[in-house]
Amino acid sequence: MKFGGTSVGGAVAIRQAVEVVRSQLDREPVVVVSAHAGVTDALFAIARAATTGTADTELIAVRHRQILAGLELDRHLLDPLLDELRDLARGVRLVGESTPKVIDAVVSYGERLSARVVAAALTAGGVPATAVDAFDAGMLTDSSFGRARPLPDEGRMLRHLQTVAGVPVLTGFLGADRDGNITTLGRNGSDYSAALIGVALNADEIQIWKDVDGVHTADPRLVKDAQPIRRMSFADVADLASFGSKVLHPAAMVPAMQHGIPLRVRNTLLPDAEGTTIAAMVPSDRPVIRAIAHRTGVALVTVHSHRLVSQHTFLAKVFAKLDEIECDVGPVAVGEAAVTVAIDAAFSDRAVECLAADGEVQVATDRAVVGVIGDAEVLENGGIAEVLAEVATSGIPVRCAGLGAVGSTVAFAVDAERLSETVQLLHRRFFTAR
Ligand code: ADP
Ligand code: ASP
Ligand code: MG
Repeated sequence: MKFGGTSVGGAVAIRQAVEVVRSQLDREPVVVVSAHAGVTDALFAIARAATTGTADTELIAVRHRQILAGLELDRHLLDPLLDELRDLARGVRLVGESTPKVIDAVVSYGERLSARVVAAALTAGGVPATAVDAFDAGMLTDSSFGRARPLPDEGRMLRHLQTVAGVPVLTGFLGADRDGNITTLGRNGSDYSAALIGVALNADEIQIWKDVDGVHTADPRLVKDAQPIRRMSFADVADLASFGSKVLHPAAMVPAMQHGIPLRVRNTLLPDAEGTTIAAMVPSDRPVIRAIAHRTGVALVTVHSHRLVSQHTFLAKVFAKLDEIECDVGPVAVGEAAVTVAIDAAFSDRAVECLAADGEVQVATDRAVVGVIGDAEVLENGGIAEVLAEVATSGIPVRCAGLGAVGSTVAFAVDAERLSETVQLLHRRFFTAR
């Protein structure tokens, strides 16, 4: 049972989470938690501010003490960890430099603090529980700080968790490399942690508790009448996640899919709601267009070849360079002597720098990517035209378009300021009007 940032965002939510765990004690749950909402962002800001000498952990301490007070827990419960965090931030400030390894160590406190709060809240509520740092429980990863990849579990986690008294409350997001350095699995990585832990324990089910009643036909924050989807296949959710939907971490589907363990997305605030069940079976009644995903903070990078090398060599070089700076690439449009890729805007300066030798580079920031997920056949047979026509006739310029790897997603870029309008009109066209 994994509880995300908002599901452990404050005393009220945590009390709710305690009831959810209590209601399923007969199933022997293992709990995985995120940092309290907003804490990871604050920790990143502290780690990055180190070089300017403004890193201050006091606000984080205040926030956690407020949560402890709200739950009527010992106000000194977190003092050892908060002291450690303060000392670490001070060390970073004195050195004046934060490497990816140091950033991971700093941000790890979010989940470590939260696991202790939730374990204490469960225990106080009559459900004995123990906080467990995933890196102590055998969550081993490589040393790619900030985006670490897990190493095979080989029974470590099960062996460790069998020794834990009461309900184990594990930290999401965190692992350790072979040298014992703390690593993180990338932003929103706790869903991935939960899937890895569920697989390691051969769980009946991996429950992901969020602030929404399951996966919807579009982000409910953007589309008011987005509808919950009751049953989905792993593949559809993987498409949704990889085309930018923030509802589940894209990697979380992989271990669950490989081991055939169903995932359920449930709502902590409405625990009786059905949520979404994600399994290998393709629901027989699924519609041809299944969901609309979007991603913001995108830059479109276009490289015009100098035509000094063949086109495939040019493309190979462009993608190799982007891979070198570890930049994920979204929808791609290829012309005779040019290529356009959608990347995370945070990478745009580095991308321009590393691609300059391969051609003339243009960048457009403030873009967003929209992905329409549906049947490959339908999308390939005129479905793309229908999607793009709908957007074009509304006067919204399409900046770059492409088809997903297996043909089941049409992805295109629009100006960020036209994003909500685009998602809303496509939702009206394919869902509300259906
Ligand atoms: P947590 O941090 O609790 O794990 P997130 O906040 O990362 O959860 O993800 C839940 C949010 O994802 C929802 O509040 C919702 O706004 C957003 N979201 C985006 N796309 C969808 C979708 N298709 N269905 C449901 N929620 C979505
Ligand atoms: N706390 C981490 C983040 O905010 C991981 C997670 O919540 O999934 O990115
Ligand atoms: Mg989150």
